[in-house]
Amino acid sequence: MKTAHHHHNWEPVIGLEIHAELNTRSKLFSSAPNHFGDEPNRNITEVCTGMPGALPVLNKEAVRKAVQFGLAVGARVATFSQFDRKSYFYPDSPRNFQITQYAHPIILGGSVMVVVGDEEKAFPINRAHLEDDAGMLKHFSDFATVDYNRAGVPLLEIVSEPCMHTAKEAALYAMAVKAILDYIDASDCNMQEGSLRIDVNVSVRKKGEAGFRNKIEIKNMNSFSNLEKAVAHEITRQISAYEQYPDKDPQDVIQQSTYRWDPDKGQTVLMRRKEYADDYRYFPEPDLLPLILTPEYIEEIRKTLPELPYEREKRYISKLQLGPQQAFTLVSDKQIAAYFEEALQDCTYAKTLANWIIVEFPGRLKELGKTLPETPIQPSHIASLVNMIETGIISGKIAKSVADDMVARMTAPNNLPLDPGAIVEANPEYLPITNRETILPIVEAVVAANAQSVADFIAGRDRALAFLVGQVMKQTKGSASPQVVNELLMECIKKK
Ligand code: ADP
Ligand code: MG
Repeated sequence: MKTAHHHHNWEPVIGLEIHAELNTRSKLFSSAPNHFGDEPNRNITEVCTGMPGALPVLNKEAVRKAVQFGLAVGARVATFSQFDRKSYFYPDSPRNFQITQYAHPIILGGSVMVVVGDEEKAFPINRAHLEDDAGMLKHFSDFATVDYNRAGVPLLEIVSEPCMHTAKEAALYAMAVKAILDYIDASDCNMQEGSLRIDVNVSVRKKGEAGFRNKIEIKNMNSFSNLEKAVAHEITRQISAYEQYPDKDPQDVIQQSTYRWDPDKGQTVLMRRKEYADDYRYFPEPDLLPLILTPEYIEEIRKTLPELPYEREKRYISKLQLGPQQAFTLVSDKQIAAYFEEALQDCTYAKTLANWIIVEFPGRLKELGKTLPETPIQPSHIASLVNMIETGIISGKIAKSVADDMVARMTAPNNLPLDPGAIVEANPEYLPITNRETILPIVEAVVAANAQSVADFIAGRDRALAFLVGQVMKQTKGSASPQVVNELLMECIKKK
């Protein structure tokens, strides 16, 4: 196979179907508990197992969460929607059909805002509909069984338009959808436990070509990084296939089918050729009335929406001067964002604070497999550490040692305080050298050796001063008080 592909002649087209399990107390059509990880086949009623005569009753909480999502993405919430039967035969559904919404979904349109590089993009949504989840097969060495605890768990399936064009865009869109579901508390969004499942559809076409080519659906990637890799791999695979057979009918080169991502092989692997809608024999669910929502009900829900991740991201960039990447990383995780918000109560140096919360501490906690909010380190501790740096009580370099100590104390058995103030107090060597007599000779030497920088500073280039401060800090191995260094430098230069 050729290795050099002409990617620039091709345009990838990507659309996502995201299944979010809604975190309601009970299931979509029965009072059985909706709870993950319990003993198999405990959380079931006759509705979940499709006993003859058992009638579904729609869960209002699931409807409410679906409406919240719709409003959060600026969609139209249908005042009339309807459930349909989708027939299929597989042991994960004893009823032999799924109840879903086909012709009249509850959510129509809307879009998800994402910052891609330095561009703002709106990725349109086609629809979102309610449906029930299937049970789970469990395979053993020589037999298989079924656990129906998941059967009937409410799902919101969110279907994007085929509107994305890079693997990165697909991953960013998926992260943004997850963040929205998380902020409105509609789903646990746990990809490992399967409460957020993403299928991605990929095709490529020649640039400028009208219409789409056949798509490949890739199932069930369990992380955003796998999603991105799978899409990138699939794009390359399709382009190579078309370029290898330029004279064949494209319909025959890539046939509509379902693949899965094999993370170990780093490849997409064929599962089956695609079914089409008429195989499912959709028809209106006779045991449920159409779902009618009043405009008042919808408006009442609109009023309860929290600040959404994209709004928060914009606020962090415009009001707190965070970088776009920093802002996105913070808001993408509701717990981290809440932690940051709390730390902001005690600290106004937002940018430095963000860096300690999303870079410095996570790096130190990696080995422990914990996130910051899961540790006893409080937002106020980090706020206080950042305040000490920014007011010149300790240097940035010493702050790193203090942070190391905080993490070490956290896991040590002796319960020493985690407050950075207490750590610095207990370690006088952490305090910077403020003694002018010690620092002055170094300042004088630096001024003498960097005449050009001194001249630049006098000429009004402030950056030159930062360079000189840096030189002094370097020679004192970061232990001099930056404040005192600054003062002495100014005095020394003035004397010239
Ligand atoms: P199907 O009828 O096969 O289920 P849909 O039209 O419902 O297909 O689309 C399913 C998903 O696939 C949507 O997210 C949509 O954006 C995406 N999609 C549709 N056509 C293409 C295509 N040619 N290339 C990439 N994605 C596509
Ligand atoms: Mg479809």
